[in-house]
Amino acid sequence: MEIKEIFDTMVYGPAPESAAPAVDYLESHNRTFDLFINGEWTKPSSKKYMESHNPANKELLAKFAEADEKDVDKAVKAAKDALPKWSALGGFERAKYLYAIARQIQKHSRLFAVLETLDNGKPIRETRDIDIPIVVRHFYHHAGWAKLMETELRDYKEVGVIGQIIPWNFPLMMLAWKVAPALAMGNTVVLKPAEYTSLTALLFAEICEKVGLPKGVFNIVTGKGTVAGTALVNHKDVNKVAFTGSTNVGKIIRREIAGSGKKISLELGGKSPFIVFEDADMDSAIEGIVDAIWFNQGQVCCAGSRLLVQESIAEKFYAKLKDRMGKLRVGNPMDKAIDMGAIVDETQFKTIDKLVKLGISEGCEIYQAKNAVPKNGFYYPPTLFTDVSTSATIAQEEIFGPVLVAMTFRSHNEAVALANNSRYGLAASIWTENINLALDIAPKVKAGAVWINCTNQFDASAGFGGYRESGFGREGGKEGLYEYTKPKIEDEFSSKPIIPKAIKSSLRQAQTEKKSRSILEDIDRTSKLYIGGKQARPDGGYSLNVLNAFGEYIGEVSEGNRKDIRNAVEAAHAEKSWAGMTGHARAQILYYIAENLAIRSEEFAERIVEMTNQSLESAQEEVEKSIERIYTYAAFADKYDGQAHSTVQRMVTLAMPEAVGVMGIVCPDENPLLGFISTVIPAIAMGNNVVVIPSEKHPFSATDFYQILETSDVPAGTVNIVTGHKDELAKEMAKHYNIDGVWYFGTKEGCKDIEFLAADSMKRTWLNFGKYRNWLDNVQGEGEEFLRHATEIKNIWIPYGA
Ligand code: NDP
Repeated sequence: MEIKEIFDTMVYGPAPESAAPAVDYLESHNRTFDLFINGEWTKPSSKKYMESHNPANKELLAKFAEADEKDVDKAVKAAKDALPKWSALGGFERAKYLYAIARQIQKHSRLFAVLETLDNGKPIRETRDIDIPIVVRHFYHHAGWAKLMETELRDYKEVGVIGQIIPWNFPLMMLAWKVAPALAMGNTVVLKPAEYTSLTALLFAEICEKVGLPKGVFNIVTGKGTVAGTALVNHKDVNKVAFTGSTNVGKIIRREIAGSGKKISLELGGKSPFIVFEDADMDSAIEGIVDAIWFNQGQVCCAGSRLLVQESIAEKFYAKLKDRMGKLRVGNPMDKAIDMGAIVDETQFKTIDKLVKLGISEGCEIYQAKNAVPKNGFYYPPTLFTDVSTSATIAQEEIFGPVLVAMTFRSHNEAVALANNSRYGLAASIWTENINLALDIAPKVKAGAVWINCTNQFDASAGFGGYRESGFGREGGKEGLYEYTKPKIEDEFSSKPIIPKAIKSSLRQAQTEKKSRSILEDIDRTSKLYIGGKQARPDGGYSLNVLNAFGEYIGEVSEGNRKDIRNAVEAAHAEKSWAGMTGHARAQILYYIAENLAIRSEEFAERIVEMTNQSLESAQEEVEKSIERIYTYAAFADKYDGQAHSTVQRMVTLAMPEAVGVMGIVCPDENPLLGFISTVIPAIAMGNNVVVIPSEKHPFSATDFYQILETSDVPAGTVNIVTGHKDELAKEMAKHYNIDGVWYFGTKEGCKDIEFLAADSMKRTWLNFGKYRNWLDNVQGEGEEFLRHATEIKNIWIPYGA
């Protein structure tokens, strides 16, 4: 064949990698693997074993143990026993282990790559050049964080025993993303790999043995998600659950552990947009799509599975894309010259095929290139759908296969609207030669990772994770470390609310007399709700009596209901200016609020006395502390900003903290004014609009605050206040689909309800789980932790020095 002919047809000979070393490895284990518990290979109590097959040829690879509840219990006990020594070992010593693991994986990288390809069906080109190098990088990077923990995270400590559950699409990479930060921060781990792909995790356990990792620090329970996974999630001694997988299972897990106080991070599905503007470099964008949707056969959570092309170039672009699809080589994943390998399993293959057939039946136009696709394994041809309506199932549901769904747009605004027309928010890829346009669109798309003129970029130093139903929590970057640590001050929180003392009974007389007078004066003054910058009557037309600490009537507040919460959420969404202001501008307004509160401090102190019957001095202290706290967040407003990470070559990655969006805030009862200020002000300082449920017992500090907000230039709709039964209203917030996050400071039962109900919309929650802060203490009552919970980090990848 002529060279020119080869270039034209792209036909070249096979270049297969030998499977022999991996086969020898499997044979040396009689193709049977036990559980790895407390540093020992342990037979499963059920004596049952499951099978792992090669999806490229359906051959049996090995059998692995099927763990049940008893095995999980053993593994968690081992992890719990190992925890004190491992966390006390210190960052430097732990760094040595992580470094040794990285070195060993590097030394055995080809075996890992071959084994992964045999087990998963993904091309060896990918496991060798992408998966395993990223794994190695993760362990090196986190060896560094282990060393730096004592200085860079000095106010944080380990969480405890971590239960980790991972999927099959990047088996070893998902393990590394979870295990490396967990071990680095002094936690111990029990891991449940996916049943289709357990083999590289078991080889990893051997590496842990080899480097002498202390027994029980890392344990593996292979088996079924519904058995071993469920047992792990629900085990009482697991302090945190880290899960990657489908949104459905993520919701099940969140409901299961609701109210338990376990920490949780969820990396779930996606339907990420790949946006091509008319001035994009078309050939680069086409290659980008190949990476976005045909990498790992499209079984990638952040796959660019929704192609949005500007209408003016769509026809030409589709023609080029179809041409390129025809050149993709689908076949034996062990062949180094293959673009696409096999789908992981028959079940997944059928799921893809079912959705594709549904797309056809919904009237979308399908294109599949006539590529030769082997018949002996689960191979699916690269597929493109055009003429897709936004409501089509295939435009909304994650297919998790090599299927691209294309739509067109005319204006930039339409591109953003289409991009955000999804319940997910994991990633987005933007293609244009105009840097101004790219950087205009990047903040507007709801996605945790935004790739400009690139796609599927990952690095240990940049966080990865989603918005909305793509889950919450980040993996990688410094933000990922907070998932495996907790503030040391949590150990000092009280198990009972810290309530300022009521005045002594000898002083009560004068206090009561004063009160009787004010009841008469206030007889007609039922405070209203505050929605969209206006005082509003409650929808239900009811009011609630407010009593003082001695149970005496002191006034009434409006009793808000579900409709009022809905109105408040609408008002919060309608306000568009606050999030876009500079930190400096928001700081000015916060200082103004503090100033106006200071002018009226006596009045606010008296109101606290009236509600709580504490001494005037302690009420004055609360007002003073509230003013100081507003200063704290005014100070932070223009300082809590992002970072520029040096990630992969020719890229800079901007880690930008963005407001969560519209937040629901349920204030503590302990300090009526300070509790309100300490929770509302950090949230708005970061650009969120909020719907607030103030203290049910002592609501007047919040309702008096309307006037401060009105006179301080706070935009109407930025702070909305709905009084009433706190826990009933809080549940409405947790259920509401248009609230992006909820903070709740109340009872343990209240926390359980919120976490359970928030699972449906997958909103972020921050809950006190029956632990109470001393709001008067600056260490417990304020700080960066509040700002972290008020923001999401968006990582924007930009070509740099290219
Ligand atoms: P699943 O959610 O079904 O499984 C993920 C893991 O959870 C597996 O180990 C599984 O075990 C286990 N599991 C299943 N049910 C339960 C349960 N009730 N309790 C505890 N554990 C359980 O997802 P898939 O494995 O099918 O993976 C595909 C999905 O994962 C896709 O939707 C994809 O979007 C998502 N994903 C998201 C990523 C992200 O970073 N956001 C990365 C990769 C995938 P078993 O193997 O026995 O079923």
